[in-house]
Amino acid sequence: MTDITRIKRCDHCLTVAPADAKFCLSCGNPFGYDRPPLAQQPFPAPPATRQVIHVHDAGPQTMNYGQISIIFGGLGVVAWCVPLFGFPVGILAIVFGTLGMKTAQNQALWGIVLGALCLTASAINAIIGAVMGASGQL
Ligand SMILES: [Zn+2]
Repeated sequence: MTDITRIKRCDHCLTVAPADAKFCLSCGNPFGYDRPPLAQQPFPAPPATRQVIHVHDAGPQTMNYGQISIIFGGLGVVAWCVPLFGFPVGILAIVFGTLGMKTAQNQALWGIVLGALCLTASAINAIIGAVMGASGQL
């Protein structure tokens, strides 16, 4: 009588063999003694499958953080004229640029530079506006 829970499968030819067999009955492939019976092994969820999914996730995307950063940086070139828009746009460009430094370093760097320029210009614009407003020159 064969106990179905005490079998294992040959790595080489996939023939099922008793758990206590030392060699494959079909191809003679030696079994490891520490190998648990087949029924106790989780069905092979091969790491390769996860890796493929992972690669797919990290693969070419329609838009990465670096590109988003550049878009906000480009917006910042215009947005600094109105500090109300310039500050959030510049901050977003820097935030996405920081996120994109790992995946799209060149684009992310441009986004950060443009975002920083936008923030600086917005700040100057806001200060000038505030000074002019305070001195009644508006
Ligand atoms: Zn075999």
